[in-house]
Amino acid sequence: MLRAASLCVLWASFVLGVPVTKERQKVLLVSFDGFRWDYDHDVDTPNLDQMAKDGVKAQYVTPPYLTITSPTHFTLLTGRYIENHGVIHNMWFNTTTSEKKTYYSTQFVNEWWDNGTLPIWITAQKQGLKAGSLHFPGTASSYQGQVAMMREVEPFLYDYKNETDWHENTDKVMGWFRDQDLDFVSLYFGEPDGTGHKYGPDSPERREMVKQVDRTVGYIRDSAERHGLTKRLNIIITADHGMTTVFRGPQVEQITLSKIPGFRFSDVSFQLLDYGPSGMLLPKPGKLETVYKALKGAHPHLHVYKKEEMPEHLRFSKNDRILPIVLWTDPGYVLNGFFPVQFNKGEHGFDNQEMDMKPFFRAVGPAFHRNLVVGPFETVNIYPLMCHLLGIEPELNDGGNVNFWKNGFIGLSAVAGFLLLVFIVTISHSFLKRKQKNQRQF
Ligand SMILES: [Zn+2]
Repeated sequence: MLRAASLCVLWASFVLGVPVTKERQKVLLVSFDGFRWDYDHDVDTPNLDQMAKDGVKAQYVTPPYLTITSPTHFTLLTGRYIENHGVIHNMWFNTTTSEKKTYYSTQFVNEWWDNGTLPIWITAQKQGLKAGSLHFPGTASSYQGQVAMMREVEPFLYDYKNETDWHENTDKVMGWFRDQDLDFVSLYFGEPDGTGHKYGPDSPERREMVKQVDRTVGYIRDSAERHGLTKRLNIIITADHGMTTVFRGPQVEQITLSKIPGFRFSDVSFQLLDYGPSGMLLPKPGKLETVYKALKGAHPHLHVYKKEEMPEHLRFSKNDRILPIVLWTDPGYVLNGFFPVQFNKGEHGFDNQEMDMKPFFRAVGPAFHRNLVVGPFETVNIYPLMCHLLGIEPELNDGGNVNFWKNGFIGLSAVAGFLLLVFIVTISHSFLKRKQKNQRQF
């Protein structure tokens, strides 16, 4: 405990600028979908640079696997890995009827989201705070019968790129903070993901979109100031995953399951394929080994695992919704069922250890240190940090070092606030170690 306490001081002086005990602080969590950690390296981003000077910047952050939008956003809201929160895919599906719902339709399937893990809006409201959400994945659902007090879900076929809308949405949530006295709001922008998919992460179009994001970051901070919020509002800006270029052309050996010798779709009763680099299969009774053996090793860039043998670091195994066979490809490759059905130039959904899958992270506000760059950390840790800033007790989460849980720290509610710091400190500790390691990898 003593060691933890001294680490606690270390973290407090590292990332959190001042104690957050006097007046309750507010938190705005912003996600720019698919903003890869290094997107500011080849574009002038004066507003993101200024935010780093005025606050904390992480080298990069590591999302949970599967690196796609709804699952990783629900991790931001809950601090749980995907196998633990259960929103395992963008698409709701039913293996009995073979029905699947799109990303947008799945937003409205309550039982897909309300699955035992509470997002921070509900936890905050249960503890007397007020929360809101605009367009953030998971906003449309209710949780144990509750919804965020102020919320807005985007309409069907929404134009996620419109900069004027971005400004209006920003002013709307700042109005919620000022006029409704909300304590926490999550705000979602659907770019640069769309542009990254369509044109690829190395395209001039993506660089233009990063400029638009940068202008909007400036707008968000200006709007906070206009609404008189800067003294109490902490702004965290991050993303759900990165983006990588898809290899195209006749020389690329495509991965098409129907062409793999020994593999038959007639051995499979349900499949979730044609969704970028990842897929899941439910073999028919007695066909698991046949399907597995046919696919395993069939292509040098295809990874095939039985659910229970998944690599530990992916933490994508222990959930009933995950199907018995999990497939994913190496960066650059996508997974096709019968033939290619989408032709994106950029994709995500790959192993979360791949550098191209890492998002960015910035934070500014009264609680944060100024002009500080920290090493990488996992996005599960953002949830306990936000709970700490809001002064609320977090739900069970995966933030921090698991060893602290294992060492008997669970259940000491009297020191819960302190524990939060301990967890965060643990993260900062591992930052430093990993930072050294990662510098060699670049
Ligand atoms: Zn996304």
